[in-house]
Amino acid sequence: TMASPALLMRVVASAYSVAEKAATIVRNVMSAGDLGIVEKAGPNDLQTKADRLVQMSICASLARKFPKVTIIGEEELSNDDVTEDLIEDGHCEEILKKPCPAQYTGIKEEELVIWVDPLDGTKEYTEGLLDHVTVLIGIAYGGKAIAGVINQPYFNYEAGADAMLGRTIWGVLGIGAFGFELTEAPAGKHIIVTTRSHSSTLVNECISALNPDTVIRVGGAGNKIIQLIEGKASAYVFASPGCKKWDTCAPEAILHAVGGKITDICGNSFHYNKDVKHMNSAGVLATLRNYDYYASRIPNTVKQSLVP
Ligand code: AMP
Ligand code: MG
Ligand code: MG
Repeated sequence: TMASPALLMRVVASAYSVAEKAATIVRNVMSAGDLGIVEKAGPNDLQTKADRLVQMSICASLARKFPKVTIIGEEELSNDDVTEDLIEDGHCEEILKKPCPAQYTGIKEEELVIWVDPLDGTKEYTEGLLDHVTVLIGIAYGGKAIAGVINQPYFNYEAGADAMLGRTIWGVLGIGAFGFELTEAPAGKHIIVTTRSHSSTLVNECISALNPDTVIRVGGAGNKIIQLIEGKASAYVFASPGCKKWDTCAPEAILHAVGGKITDICGNSFHYNKDVKHMNSAGVLATLRNYDYYASRIPNTVKQSLVP
């Protein structure tokens, strides 16, 4: 008889379906029209009804199947409000059919940490920039981001009613990443993607120092990693605190699964153990190719202003 699939593959397969349910919730809240916006730290740090419902849906659904896994979500909520209609029980069969990389076959539930950003790009969601929005489920083991799911609920929304709306990208280190077409950025051009709603003098100083041909300003950490793996941008540069572990865990796993690299602005890798500090205080630097080109050109003054 076939051995049952490894825990990691079962978690990723479930996270895939849970992220698709999340995308439906994100679209339903928007079409119902009442976003229920709450300011967290300030006007650039928002939470909507979609952030709340999706987090409850993802965390409760995964906790029910994998009770010993540590799940850390962005939003501070009480779990008492979870209703049965928010629970997703399904999984993606195609993922279960892939063999688990040998180094991950022995992983136990207690050893996994799942980082959940129920809605990345909330500011843009409230402003109708819908394709900036992603749902992020990152899976860490031994402090490393090893697998992730990124759902883009409004992928294709400007392509018209005939186009399939939304997509799910997933990846595992040692297997690869799927659900998109890996594309290189134009050779010899330096296209930087950065924040649209969390800029600062330092953020802009750092970008200027890299002398880019083009700067793309869009919302969401998930969205910016998609720009890298689809060849729209050559580097994601964010010289500021603000981005958290749930913003980078799933994107990191997917980017690393296709040979890219993400660190803070100083070149330090991120750690995703359950008791790690949430804030990525020293910002983000990510590329699919030519990481060293960008890393070597970050000014020392910028690095010294950002303490990990
Ligand atoms: P952005 O590129 O501005 O969309 O930021 C990527 C992620 O980091 C999003 O989840 C933002 O909410 C978060 N983020 C970045 N900067 C800040 C900030 N100054 N305050 C709150 N959240 C931030
Ligand atoms: Mg986010
Ligand atoms: Mg969020």
